[in-house]
Amino acid sequence: MMNRILAVLLLSAFLAGCPRMAADSVAPAVTSTVVFCGTLIDGLSAAPARNQTVTIEDGRISSVTGGAPGIDDFLDLSGHTCLPGLIDTHTHMVESAGDTADLSIFYTRSLDVEQEIAAELAATTLNAGFTTVRNLGAYNGWAGRTLKNRINDGEIPGPRMQVSGFYLTIPGGGGDLVIPDFPEEDIPARVRMGVSRGPEEFRRKAQQAVDGGADVLKAIASGAVLAYGGVPGGPEMTPEEIEAVADVAHAAGIKLTAHAHGAQSIKDAILAGADSIEHASLADDEAIALAALHDVAFSMDVYNGSHIASVGREENWPEEFLRKNDETTEAQRQVFTKAHRAGVPIIFGTDAGVYPHGDNAKMFRIMVERGMTPIEAIQAATSVAAKYIGWADDVGAVQVGRYGDLIAVTGDPLADISILENVDVVIKGGQRFK
Ligand SMILES: [Zn+2]
Repeated sequence: MMNRILAVLLLSAFLAGCPRMAADSVAPAVTSTVVFCGTLIDGLSAAPARNQTVTIEDGRISSVTGGAPGIDDFLDLSGHTCLPGLIDTHTHMVESAGDTADLSIFYTRSLDVEQEIAAELAATTLNAGFTTVRNLGAYNGWAGRTLKNRINDGEIPGPRMQVSGFYLTIPGGGGDLVIPDFPEEDIPARVRMGVSRGPEEFRRKAQQAVDGGADVLKAIASGAVLAYGGVPGGPEMTPEEIEAVADVAHAAGIKLTAHAHGAQSIKDAILAGADSIEHASLADDEAIALAALHDVAFSMDVYNGSHIASVGREENWPEEFLRKNDETTEAQRQVFTKAHRAGVPIIFGTDAGVYPHGDNAKMFRIMVERGMTPIEAIQAATSVAAKYIGWADDVGAVQVGRYGDLIAVTGDPLADISILENVDVVIKGGQRFK
């Protein structure tokens, strides 16, 4: 969007100075980008293509053709492998890794400081090759929306964002930021906006989220790892409560994703109409079969547990969080393998915010170790992710009509997936950011 506005401004300034110049003779030079890729993994095809020229006009891809460009002015990536801009379907862009050590920071940190931090995290995420993220909540309910607007207005660099707003969760549930021994009257209301009980209240709060501009709703169906009290697998929201939220989401034409570790809550969420499940750590065979049957995607943060185990102890995170993490990490990786084999759509979601922003691509290695082929892992973070977040027309593939979001790496990520941890070039909407 910024490109287009900039182009229009430049064009009008130019035309104002040279009134006799024909408009069509200057417009393409301002808005088009031509990229020549030695190898192109387009996000859809099973095999890469060699020597491809990608043309981006007005932010969107206008052609992808074999052979070198017939013009002099192009970005030469003949020594690189190009891929679509990556998608992370589970991030927390206004929360830094490390905030978990003392969650009371969300009561006391000013909103301005929070936005300064968020701007840095957005730039870091974009530079790591993630041109699209789905922000699945912030303790400060609408901080993600503020960040999204700043990026879309061109004020700061960052990925395209879908935001969920506040967590829909039960009192004392996995998304309710109450801390033992912290006086409840000192907790700011903004961190508890989605706390509800009963289908009617959930329906009302879900509608508030939609009216506030949520692009997706996030329900905390069962207990969280990084929350006080509760059991990671233990159901919190009832099937009727999840269904109330799903109805509101679908009436608004958006998706519902459910945070659920336990088998029962995963099944409840699928049957209640959730479109995807976050974590899915303790799914049993029945839950996996149900997800496959209903075409419900699992977004599984399979690297996160290693990160938490290593830094959590160093940073003195609460012992309760570390114990719950140990209980879910290996179990979740085994479920990942089974779910993938059973045909459950897997979408790339790291839970960045717990996991350091910018390290997102480290998860690819675990996905491949646990049974995906490299091309499947890449598609989980491109075309498959785009489909399940409802943005298949816009992102997730280097294909005519979609946004001109692409990245480039040195070497062959199909031979060594960890190459994606070092992205050399990032282009979003035809504009180069790295
Ligand atoms: Zn999360």
